[in-house]
Amino acid sequence: MSSSQAEPTATGRMAVYPGSFDPLTNGHVDIIERGARLFDRIVVAVLVNIEKRPLFSVDERVAILRAAFRGNPKVEVDTFGGLLVDYARRKGAHAIVRGLRAVSDFEYEFQMALMNRRLAPQLETVFMMPGEQYTYISSRLIKEVFMLGGSVGGMVPPLVEDELRKKQASLTGGPETRQA
Ligand code: ADP
Repeated sequence: MSSSQAEPTATGRMAVYPGSFDPLTNGHVDIIERGARLFDRIVVAVLVNIEKRPLFSVDERVAILRAAFRGNPKVEVDTFGGLLVDYARRKGAHAIVRGLRAVSDFEYEFQMALMNRRLAPQLETVFMMPGEQYTYISSRLIKEVFMLGGSVGGMVPPLVEDELRKKQASLTGGPETRQA
């Protein structure tokens, strides 16, 4: 057997789960846990996107993800920029994992998956559905609801609630100041 390329071994199947994770929600957590059961390793890859104006910096999002999955050795957290297929190839990934919440996700995800297949035919995209209690949760809605004073309990990990509180305080100049 040649080892000239990053040819995966049967015991080391790895998937990349890319996204913004701004912030991590229980929907993402559900997909990551499902991915970790399906693959030997799952790399949660935070997209470095200079055009978007995120609430949490990439470093903050990575720190949240690392803290949330500290106890799961199958989950790795990383960042990437540029073409996802190039990143996946560099990592030696076998698959891209994406979550499908509703029909509304389908069209965009379908286009992306087929474009990625064209760019990297050997890389499969695997779609997973979260538990139905998470199907309506998006990072965007979480941010909106939280910033308007609504409860996001049960929809994000408790540490994300804490970070949202700190972020809100730092943005509004409240008594709780940002910690390094
Ligand atoms: P993006 O900005 O690329 O949509 P996200 O971090 O919001 O990044 O999402 C990353 C992936 O997780 C996408 O495949 C998205 O469909 C999926 N996802 C987001 N929220 C949920 C959820 N509540 N349940 C299942 N999958 C989700």
